[in-house]
Amino acid sequence: MKKGNINVSVENIFPLIKKFLYSDHEIFLRELISNATDATLKLKHIAGIGKEKIEVGEPIIEVKIDKKGKKLHIIDQGIGMTSDEIEKYINEVAFSGAEEFLEKYKDSAKDSGIIGHFGLGFYSAFMVAKKVEIISKSYKNKPSAHWTCDGSPNYTLDKGNKKDRGTEIILHIDKNSKEFIEENKISELLVKYNKFMPIPIKFGTKEETLPLEKDAKEGEKPKIKTVDNIINNPNPAWTKQPKDLKGEDYKGFYRELYPMQFEEPLFNIHLNVDYPFNLTGILYFPKLTNDVNIQKDKIQLYQNQVFVTDNVEGIVPEFLTLLRGVIDSPDIPLNVSRSYLQADGAVKKISSYITRKVADKLASLFKNDRDGFEKKWNDIKIIIEYGMLSEEKFFEKSEKFALYPTVDDKFYTYEELYNKIKAKQTDKDDKLVILYSSDKQAQHSYIENAKNKGYEVLLLDSPIVSHLIQKLESSKEKIQFARVDSDHIDNLINKDKNKVSKLNDDQKKELEEIVRNVVNDEKFVIKLESMDSKENPFIITNPEFMRRMKEMQQSGGGGMFGAGNMPEMFNLVINTNSDLISQIIKTKTKKKQERLISQSIDLAKLSHGLLNGEGLTNFIKRSFDIIK
Ligand code: ADP
Repeated sequence: MKKGNINVSVENIFPLIKKFLYSDHEIFLRELISNATDATLKLKHIAGIGKEKIEVGEPIIEVKIDKKGKKLHIIDQGIGMTSDEIEKYINEVAFSGAEEFLEKYKDSAKDSGIIGHFGLGFYSAFMVAKKVEIISKSYKNKPSAHWTCDGSPNYTLDKGNKKDRGTEIILHIDKNSKEFIEENKISELLVKYNKFMPIPIKFGTKEETLPLEKDAKEGEKPKIKTVDNIINNPNPAWTKQPKDLKGEDYKGFYRELYPMQFEEPLFNIHLNVDYPFNLTGILYFPKLTNDVNIQKDKIQLYQNQVFVTDNVEGIVPEFLTLLRGVIDSPDIPLNVSRSYLQADGAVKKISSYITRKVADKLASLFKNDRDGFEKKWNDIKIIIEYGMLSEEKFFEKSEKFALYPTVDDKFYTYEELYNKIKAKQTDKDDKLVILYSSDKQAQHSYIENAKNKGYEVLLLDSPIVSHLIQKLESSKEKIQFARVDSDHIDNLINKDKNKVSKLNDDQKKELEEIVRNVVNDEKFVIKLESMDSKENPFIITNPEFMRRMKEMQQSGGGGMFGAGNMPEMFNLVINTNSDLISQIIKTKTKKKQERLISQSIDLAKLSHGLLNGEGLTNFIKRSFDIIK
């Protein structure tokens, strides 16, 4: 037997490893299974070249718990290591790897910036084990080797008695890490990290019911067979070519990824590049609800089929974190902080590639099946609008597929909308006025007013719409969005610039005074207007600019002037040309006049959804009095 002292300058690095990587102890299993996978793939590769005659068979990796002995075994049938190789790869390479890792990250390892902690490799075993054994037999015709180390720089290396090719790693689990000899815990970790690794991984056995034979007698019970419990799918969909997959395969893989998700995805995007970086993956557009926050962190990042993280922030643009699926790339540097990651050139390229693929897919879906795309619009618009706001490139591309639905369920592209309304809907400065509603029910009477005049009204009801229209106004020429209730329709779209009022100045002054007395509420600004129409004597409006600022601040992204704290302000617009106003002016008794005004204002409030509480009670009482 050989005894030795591992040459490391950081005396006893294991306590340090334990300390620095405290929160991520569980990754040891991923690291060891990755090594076992590499060893198996190397064997297949060597056999594949055909220089040496190797019987590969169908190698698997086995994970075994020995509860009594408090040991965890990871066994592979890969290339194995000779004694010399253990000295070289474990004592020198792996140790220096661990040392280097610590040197590099001793300051930053504690902050959550490090993703995945790749690079620690074999020595992560000491995070959970007080002693580790390696028993290995190389595929070369050499005796097997047995290495033991208790976490100090001292090791022993002896002949082993392993007959078959491969490596067995035995972890003597530390008493502080007892959870790692629990079946449930190991099973959970295998599913989390190794679900799609390329070599089958066995963990225990399971019983399988065999189908009945054709000539089975009546009442015969099916046979039960004990089989290996393989926990992974070594050939997940994203590793295959798109041409070999059907719609059903993509849906099936979605269920594999999210077994608890019952809703089917809307469509998928298969990513597949090998230059200038390597990346494969499948992204899915899920059906989203308006609460986008709970829906993030569903994309899983893999490296060569090894799970790394489900936080892809910094790797895909923020708006795409709402998608689901898998990205697999060996080219994403993982042992760096997030801020470094975002500045990394390769990662930037990956991020813009993914954005482009998503935009192209949307454009082709729109082109090939516009009907189907329109039907999906409500479920995908949040992601698209979010993308238009946050990624300039995506905004440009969205011209081809971003839709603007109307309150009557027609869908226009921007260009179609523009052409449709340009002749009709302009304001006094010749700006194109795009009318929209955020709520068909609440703004019903305003929508009707606009429609009666033959105008198009969009239905824009996603939570970030105020930001989006701000963005559109600043990037397109001479357009102005206006919510249908932001002003009287004749004021919003106004080609008749020289309006004549039926009332003279004295009458106007008098009218304003009476109304002011009746309203008696600071949040209403009284405005006398001479409209074309004789209807709509009183309407309440919520001016576009202030309302939008307020909304933008509420939905994040900071409106100007601390708009979130602004009091609510409304305009009470009085159409001085309306018949009712003429009637009010003519009414002789003050009491009757006030009653007419109260009733009218309440109706205006009602149609803006502002009448409630005492006001509503009074209104109902007064209305009954009137009809009595
Ligand atoms: P890395 O895998 O990043 O190279 P590790 O510390 O995990 O670093 O392992 C060091 C080396 O030990 C590996 O590169 C490999 O040559 C060897 N090794 C580790 N585990 C096995 C195994 N199960 N079978 C064969 N060789 C192994």
